[in-house]
Amino acid sequence: MLSEFARTLVTDFPIEGILDHLVRRIVDIMPIDAAGVSLISPTTYPHLVAGSDESAVRYENLQTELGEGPCVLAYASNEAVSVPDLTSDDRFPGFAERAHVEGLVAVFTFPLRSDDRCLGALDLYRTKPGELDEQDMATAQTLADVATAYLLNAEARRTKSEFVATVSHELRTPMTCIAGFIELLQDGQGGALTPRQEMFVEAIVRNSARLTALADNLLLVTGLASNAARRGHSDVDLAAVVLAAGRDLDRVVVARGLELFLDVGGDPVVVHGDTAHLEAVVTNLLTNAIKFTEDGGWVRCTLRAVSGTARLSVSDNGLGIPEAEQGDLFTRFFRSSTAREHAIQGTGLGLTIVDSIVRSHGGDIAVTSKHLGGSTFSVCLPLAT
Ligand code: ADP
Repeated sequence: MLSEFARTLVTDFPIEGILDHLVRRIVDIMPIDAAGVSLISPTTYPHLVAGSDESAVRYENLQTELGEGPCVLAYASNEAVSVPDLTSDDRFPGFAERAHVEGLVAVFTFPLRSDDRCLGALDLYRTKPGELDEQDMATAQTLADVATAYLLNAEARRTKSEFVATVSHELRTPMTCIAGFIELLQDGQGGALTPRQEMFVEAIVRNSARLTALADNLLLVTGLASNAARRGHSDVDLAAVVLAAGRDLDRVVVARGLELFLDVGGDPVVVHGDTAHLEAVVTNLLTNAIKFTEDGGWVRCTLRAVSGTARLSVSDNGLGIPEAEQGDLFTRFFRSSTAREHAIQGTGLGLTIVDSIVRSHGGDIAVTSKHLGGSTFSVCLPLAT
């Protein structure tokens, strides 16, 4: 069981789900009837409760409501608390009385210890009196330590996401200001520009657009990971999304001498989802196809509704992706050796974002590609019903 949990320790799974799973598995392997975890902090008291069943959640809440019980004592003392028979233990009269009514007889509690602080406690509940033997007590403390490791890991991930979200957000404000002043310069409001000055301003425009895109992508990635952005869904016509994305890319397509074919059929292709997220899918795939195709090449985007599914495919005759690297395509910050060799700029976040969005809409994405032989990204999304 420990190795099973060790494997999931580094995943992005929400902590609530992990703790629920942990307490249920503890009930499977220990001689107890229920188990619960309360996360306690001096300011928010408690801030999270998990239980193997409803009774465990009730016992956890009861102790924190009363401010009394083995869980509260283990938290305050940072020591394990053993109560083999609540009826003959006078330390928790209020809790014992209420627990007795529900048929709870024995409680064994283990602190969630971390260096200098205690995060809460793991409670094991039993409906029959009697001690837990030494080995079970030691096992339970180890499991409490595993829960602590999860919590610390989740806390570190949350801090990191919040940090990235704050930095990206703070980046956006000066970027908007820079864009505003560039526009004034281009409009000639600071005096006429010489051709050389225009060239410099163009370089500033390009690079500030890159920075803005990076900040947007970072925000999207942290928002998706933390599930913070659970926004409203609506019916979205993907055909309109594709056509609008194509229009936005018109300038670069012409400048690079590329051919862009958009074939969306004649009818709307409607899926139910988050408009901004679905736009990010189409834009990221089209931008990549353009970016990784040499001047004079072609990019083709087709969209069709086929038996309940929206099928979007974006193909190009560009650089392709070496086969050995294709398994890492949807990993955060992945960039192919070809992209690096050709010094094509990017962050390696776009496809991670695309993949998360497609999956969160109940769809999937596949890629076929050949080194220096072009790529096709195919996305399937369920049509709105
Ligand atoms: P970025 O484009 O910012 O590098 P992405 O996550 O969008 O990040 O893409 C990750 C990597 O996948 C790219 O760096 C590139 O190596 C490869 N890739 C994505 N799309 C294509 C494409 N259409 N053709 C060739 N390589 C691609």
